[in-house]
Amino acid sequence: MRGFAMIKLNEVGFIEKPDPVAGHRDAIVKPLAVAPCTSDIHTVYEGAVGPRENLILGHEACGQIVEVGDEVKDFKVGDKVLIPAITPDWGDTFSQAGYSVHSGGMLGGWKFSNIKDGVFGTRIHVNEADANLALLPPEIDIDVACMLSDMIPTGLHASEMSGVTFGDTVVVIGIGPVGLMCVRGAVLHGAGRLIAVGSRPKTVEVARIFGATDFISYKDGDIAEQVLALTNGVGADKVLIAGGDNDTFEPAIKMLKPGGSIGNVNYLGSGEYVKIPRVEWGVGMGHKTIHGGLMPGGRLRMEKLGSLVVNGRIDPSLMITHRFEGFDHIAEAVELMHNKPADLIKPVVICSDI
Ligand code: NDP
Ligand code: ZN
Repeated sequence: MRGFAMIKLNEVGFIEKPDPVAGHRDAIVKPLAVAPCTSDIHTVYEGAVGPRENLILGHEACGQIVEVGDEVKDFKVGDKVLIPAITPDWGDTFSQAGYSVHSGGMLGGWKFSNIKDGVFGTRIHVNEADANLALLPPEIDIDVACMLSDMIPTGLHASEMSGVTFGDTVVVIGIGPVGLMCVRGAVLHGAGRLIAVGSRPKTVEVARIFGATDFISYKDGDIAEQVLALTNGVGADKVLIAGGDNDTFEPAIKMLKPGGSIGNVNYLGSGEYVKIPRVEWGVGMGHKTIHGGLMPGGRLRMEKLGSLVVNGRIDPSLMITHRFEGFDHIAEAVELMHNKPADLIKPVVICSDI
């Protein structure tokens, strides 16, 4: 097989590898469409998960099954499937405790492009196919289907973790594709006022369509001060973080009401500590809760999120700004993610030649 890989830190390229082999409960899938993620960039160019050599990148794809293990019950060769970025081992004790994303140890459910080859290969190995794959609903196009691997589950998870409820004032920090799905998730959970933090006109335009009511830019000064000014000094009920860095927790805590909570899905790519301001955190007693989580994966989650798309609750096509035709264009799509031109939200590569 051929794949687009992290050859070593700061170096990417196409490599050849032996085809993966399906275990009894696994499937081998060929990609129909794939998308690069900002996390691939953190991994390659910041060494955020440590050094990796000749590791095929990518964890956002939909595909068609080419082989199944002899114990796979619900999928067969030829089925078109949604592939979640997170593919836990469902039988382990972390999963039994309700944290399948950490099966096998912290972040262990994140296998693609972390602890095994990712989806930017001509063949993709999926563990526990019955538990991790979902049939691709025929109403969903293959480019849009890629948004169900990671962007939709991650953005909605930030809202879920923070517990957004009816009428909440919500701030979403960062409105790249993940933040845009935070916006949509918060709206679906019942947010009232929704203040989005971003600087690019293209993302602001889409955030408005997804339901953001107010906009501020981190380039216009302290975002906590801007949120407090907009809310008469009261602040927000919930803050969802999908952009910024380790220091972003400082304004997030400052703009949060006592009793409020933060849902962070931002991947902190470097540095040793995050910054929590002591006084605004109620000197440790402000009931301001910080949640941070990897997106949950698995079949049930994919089926439910697929239903949101099929029934028009989320239109992920609004986020796809660049489309490529042909597997080898993965290299350009990854480079786009690296450089982030102002008109980019998300690129997708259609793998019609595989
Ligand atoms: P993007 O780079 O596309 O978007 C980042 C957003 O943050 C942009 O709106 C940007 O503004 C904004 N931003 C940049 N700097 C600051 C700052 N200092 N303060 C406030 N906002 C800022 O990223 P993605 O949407 O693709 O991904 C977001 C994060 O989510 C990444 O770290 C990614 O790795 C992570 N992630 C986490 C997952 C999980 O399971 N938890 C899964 C997938 C991704 P603008 O561009 O307008 O200037
Ligand atoms: Zn990702």
